[in-house]
Amino acid sequence: MFCHSCENKRMIHEVIPVGPLQCNCSIIGDETSHEAMVIDPGDDIEDIVAILEQHKLQLKQIVITHAHIDHVGGAMKLRARTGAPILLNQNDYGLLKMLDVQASWLGMRDPGKVEIEASLAHDQTLRAGKLEAKVLHTPGHTEGSVCLYFPAEKMLIAGDTLFARSIGRTDLPGGSFEKIVRSLHDRVLTLPDETLVFPGHGPQTTIGEERVENPFLR
Ligand SMILES: [Zn+2]
Repeated sequence: MFCHSCENKRMIHEVIPVGPLQCNCSIIGDETSHEAMVIDPGDDIEDIVAILEQHKLQLKQIVITHAHIDHVGGAMKLRARTGAPILLNQNDYGLLKMLDVQASWLGMRDPGKVEIEASLAHDQTLRAGKLEAKVLHTPGHTEGSVCLYFPAEKMLIAGDTLFARSIGRTDLPGGSFEKIVRSLHDRVLTLPDETLVFPGHGPQTTIGEERVENPFLR
């Protein structure tokens, strides 16, 4: 469990790895208003709901960083439990229609149709109480991949765009190595060095560490 706090705002932030591919699902809540957002509920929805209940959080939105099954597979179940709308960048709507194909590649069960309430646009601000996240459209791992940047907390939810010492694979349908490198340089490495990064899989890191240590960013 990770907790962040700064002068005027307090954030509840829990990260749990979900499903067989251990996608890092973030549960982020405003400690004052108890409004929350969940990012990438790929699976294990009961565990996510338990954390929401434990902190008495009211889920306002379900945010999907990209339409791979390990990130979006549990979204409809979470919507059914909470009534919260699901948001995804429109460039991944095509991939979302291929969840049955993705499921068969991985030997997983088809989660069925996922209904998106609205597209996530670059530079759009998402809110949960006083917490604010800026949407960064970062195509490359998929066409519709996004990262979420919380400026007040200097924190980035990176989806599968940036990992500790690695970057997202680009060999799957819709992937582009050229685009992910451009997204990283133009929209991710422009963030402050002290920005804490929570990748879609594996351990957390910082922008400063990746700027120096990540072999794909030199
Ligand atoms: Zn992915």
